[in-house]
Amino acid sequence: MAEATYDPDNIFAKILRGEFPSHRVYEDDAVVAFMDAMPQGPGHTLVVPKAPSRNLLDADPATLGPLFTVVQKVALAIKRAFGADGVTILQFNEPASGQTVYHLHVHVIPRFEGIPLKPHSGGREKPEVLAASAEKIRAALDD
Ligand code: AMP
Repeated sequence: MAEATYDPDNIFAKILRGEFPSHRVYEDDAVVAFMDAMPQGPGHTLVVPKAPSRNLLDADPATLGPLFTVVQKVALAIKRAFGADGVTILQFNEPASGQTVYHLHVHVIPRFEGIPLKPHSGGREKPEVLAASAEKIRAALDD
């Protein structure tokens, strides 16, 4: 079977181009972060490099340093914003791993003692809840 290639019309590419709405918490020259629309817990955020790649396996290594610098920044802000006990970082590569959107992204999820994660790509959250979470994270990023 032929190797799968990057599709420039994937949903995150559309979000990055501003063609599809998102609740953004952070943006710089190389990276954008926005709320996951089907969160596995309150505050679940996706950190996405602007450079196109399907996932980590075909990414330009030069994108990874700036990406993980923002992952750490967002993880610290989320921990503060939600008073979390910990933070889970997830990243999926190809269908066998559970990947569903084929533009590299890193999940940053606040964790609370004794509270399990909700299912991956589960129920859609209300826009007003996502907007409120994004506001809290933006405020923590500015602290
Ligand atoms: P995965 O590719 O398995 O790492 O997961 C893709 C993630 O993107 C899932 O957690 C979905 O809930 C999330 N997602 C899918 N569509 C959107 C969207 N339009 N806006 C924000 N998050 C999304």
